[in-house]
Amino acid sequence: TRGVVTLGESMALIRGDGVAGLEHLATARIETGGAEGNVAVGLTRLGVDATWLGRVGDDALGRRVAGELRGEGVRVVAIVDTAAPTGLMIKNTPHAGRTAVTYYRAGSAGSRLTPADLDRIDFAQHALLHLTGITPALSASARETAFAAVELARAAGCAVSFDVNLRASLWPAEDPAPVLRSLAALVDIVIAGDDEARLITGSPAALDDPAALLEALRDLGPREAVVKRGPLGASASAGGEVVHQAAFAVPVVDTVGAGDAFTAAYLARRLAGAPLAEAVRTAAIAGAIACTHPSDWLGYARPSDLAAFDAADPVRR
Ligand code: ATP
Repeated sequence: TRGVVTLGESMALIRGDGVAGLEHLATARIETGGAEGNVAVGLTRLGVDATWLGRVGDDALGRRVAGELRGEGVRVVAIVDTAAPTGLMIKNTPHAGRTAVTYYRAGSAGSRLTPADLDRIDFAQHALLHLTGITPALSASARETAFAAVELARAAGCAVSFDVNLRASLWPAEDPAPVLRSLAALVDIVIAGDDEARLITGSPAALDDPAALLEALRDLGPREAVVKRGPLGASASAGGEVVHQAAFAVPVVDTVGAGDAFTAAYLARRLAGAPLAEAVRTAAIAGAIACTHPSDWLGYARPSDLAAFDAADPVRR
């Protein structure tokens, strides 16, 4: 099979240099970003065959999004939408230690996914479909597409993973919890931040009680659950097993993108049959490495980076 298929919106990303608000920012780089594309890159870097499906505009930034993902070895199914532009995000550091992300994506090509777009994917050819909670927030048709993809994957015997990835700014007029909960209930593997786990389950569990959050997530339906806790690490549960992993201390440059790096490494290891503890540990290393690079995905780990990280500090073994 062809490994993992994911779908969602990838955008051009303008990343400001240095510390400056957008009022005064003088220089920036043009990169690309978007959670599902980031995960596809993370998977590819770790040797997993990954396919990304999404819409881009008939414009230079759309060609850039598709081209950069292709350049990383992702199998790209980019549907060119002539009726809307490629979305854009701006990431800058208005003050040291604080990252600001601004989106210009309302009505974008990437938000116009429709269930018919899924005709381009043969789910029986993939071991895993990966979705995030961003897609159902983009538009009514994108939401239908996310649910339709789960249905097609399940019918084809393709497992489904779901990273809640709550983006509050994409839910200005709607309570995200019921939608994200109903999607989570349909998947095999659910991955959530501690706050996201509490939100979608309605669990009264404390944020510092990951075992209870994992149990609440699995009560929704998934056979496997992961709770990410930023600098506090991560926990996971599958079968009768629960594992906890501390974060690795690293010189943090920018934590945006760490969650996607973590998810990619976790899925890569689980697809390879790794035990839960090993998958979470590798994922935490990949997340830590991502924190040491200012870009969303440019600094994502390759196997040699994981090995170097381990070799650098014997205590980590
Ligand atoms: P994102 O900002 O990409 O959406 P997220 O909220 O989905 O991130 P986090 O929990 O912040 O995900 O990060 C995922 C994993 O990366 C953590 O579980 C941890 O292992 C690692 N990580 C995150 N932040 C740090 C940090 N400051 N130091 C070390 N490791 C970190």
